[in-house]
Amino acid sequence: MQTHFSKEQLKDKDNQSSEKIFRKCVHCGFCNATCPTYQLLGDELDGPRGRIYLIKDMLENNKPANEKIVKHIDRCLSCYSCMTTCPSGVNYMHLIDHGRNHIEKTYKRPFKDRLIRNFLSITLSKSINFRVIAILTRFIKPFSFFFPKKLKEMINFMPGKFPKKTLPKMKVYSAHKRKKPVARVALLTGCVQKVISPQINEATIRLLNRHGIEVVVPKGIDCCGSLNHHLGKSDLANQTFKKNISIWYDEYLKNGLDAIISNTSGCGTTLKDYGFIFRSDKLKKEAKKISELTKDISVYLEENVKLNFIKNNTNTKEYKIAYHSACSMQHGQKIHDVPINLIRKTGNQVFNIPDGHLCCGSAGTYNLLQSDIAKKLLKNKISNIEKIKPQIITTGNIGCITQIASGTKIPILHTVEIIDWYTGGPKPEVLQKL
Ligand code: SF4
Ligand code: SF4
Repeated sequence: MQTHFSKEQLKDKDNQSSEKIFRKCVHCGFCNATCPTYQLLGDELDGPRGRIYLIKDMLENNKPANEKIVKHIDRCLSCYSCMTTCPSGVNYMHLIDHGRNHIEKTYKRPFKDRLIRNFLSITLSKSINFRVIAILTRFIKPFSFFFPKKLKEMINFMPGKFPKKTLPKMKVYSAHKRKKPVARVALLTGCVQKVISPQINEATIRLLNRHGIEVVVPKGIDCCGSLNHHLGKSDLANQTFKKNISIWYDEYLKNGLDAIISNTSGCGTTLKDYGFIFRSDKLKKEAKKISELTKDISVYLEENVKLNFIKNNTNTKEYKIAYHSACSMQHGQKIHDVPINLIRKTGNQVFNIPDGHLCCGSAGTYNLLQSDIAKKLLKNKISNIEKIKPQIITTGNIGCITQIASGTKIPILHTVEIIDWYTGGPKPEVLQKL
């Protein structure tokens, strides 16, 4: 694709990077074939190629965003299915992030939109805020039908109760029965995940500790920053990124870290991008190190841990398990077979879901901001899951777990919960009736 940025425009580091990406695109449109929003809406501007043109036009011509551009960019899930398909290696993720930041700087959204987006930004990016709002909404829930559609959906999305935690809150979770651990890792516990599904972090910690690995949860790290990053709120996102980078880097220097473990693939994708985001910043070296240290839990287990599978009276039955490959896992981090192979080692049958490359509609805050499209995607996902008649669904991303659970009664759990169970951990609560 030809570009027409001026020399002046190319002094900006983001324009510079985006220009290189635009040049890689050969307009072939292969990406449209695997884009969920293009498939549903059939409009060129609701596919990656069309969105690339919209972003290029805004940036090259110093154009402020307008209602039409915002509509089509907002409809993008950031699922990155287009990146897996693109034969030219176009990094759509960096383009859409740049496009969203440009929108936030040049477009004044209608009052209601601003209110909702600010509310999501404040509520979801801090676990304490999320907890307080979730408690307050319990009282409003019975009257949610009085509220406008979007607000009603948000109220209903809030959890009615919080699962009990079984592990105490600590900075360091020591390896079992060892004076010296075989490795030392930091765990990102996540802003929403630790409130609505603490059992995922607990399974991760238990499993790693049992295998001789010390787990550190440094104080001060809550959200990975991707929530605000995807809302185009780059200043807020950068504050979080910088805080996380300095806390983890400090821990790495002072006490040593072999890895930073992410058990939410959406967050892992963003952590792995810190190096790019801070490529021209004074934190460049530190950010790059944090990205290099980041590993999805499935990859860390596969590459670094000799798992000790144990048969006991709760896990002798063989289950048919459907593996949902989260977009951030398969397209964002290019991890697909590793979690499947890990689950196979438990002796259960694992199946890919038909049309598994398509998003379930969760996509961060997408299911709240674009609920009509998200519902259609969820319906398609559930119907594809039902084709394989599984007893259990598993995935590696809390957003997908919440979204899919809202559309089916088949129990769904994080992959790490299954591995924990088969290596001596407790049977996950959602499976107690199976
Ligand atoms: S990220 Fe997903 S929704 Fe957005 S253009 Fe690419 S394939 Fe389509
Ligand atoms: S597949 Fe890649 S090269 Fe082809 S139009 Fe899409 S982004 Fe451009």
